[in-house]
Amino acid sequence: MSDCLFCRIVARQTPAQFVYEDDRAAAFKDVNPQAPTHVLIVPKKHISSLAEASDEDAELLGHLQRVACRIALEHSLTKGFRVVTNNGRGAGQSVDHLHYHLLGGRAMTWPPG
Ligand code: AMP
Repeated sequence: MSDCLFCRIVARQTPAQFVYEDDRAAAFKDVNPQAPTHVLIVPKKHISSLAEASDEDAELLGHLQRVACRIALEHSLTKGFRVVTNNGRGAGQSVDHLHYHLLGGRAMTWPPG
């Protein structure tokens, strides 16, 4: 989608610091990091949010989480890390292209704000 920020990043039309890419997924550093490691993992396919994913996307959703684990290992997040997606404005979603936040490198609190 040409009017989607993360589609434009995936298409390399908007710059980002990529840390991973394959045929189905891409990952790049969050421009406003909330932890020493803050990476966004996105599907290349445009899906607006987790709630908009279909049963057909189940394998893709699993793949995104496997990518998150791989990046966590590469960043040596041995003390722990968090993978989270915000679904909808009420949960803090600001970009309408499904993305998982990978956060690590500092102590995490629960519940998140
Ligand atoms: P959310 O609020 O859960 O939708 O997350 C969107 C995330 O995208 C936020 O953490 C933003 O800091 C991040 N973000 C916005 N624009 C960019 C960009 N151009 N490159 C990388 N991250 C971005």
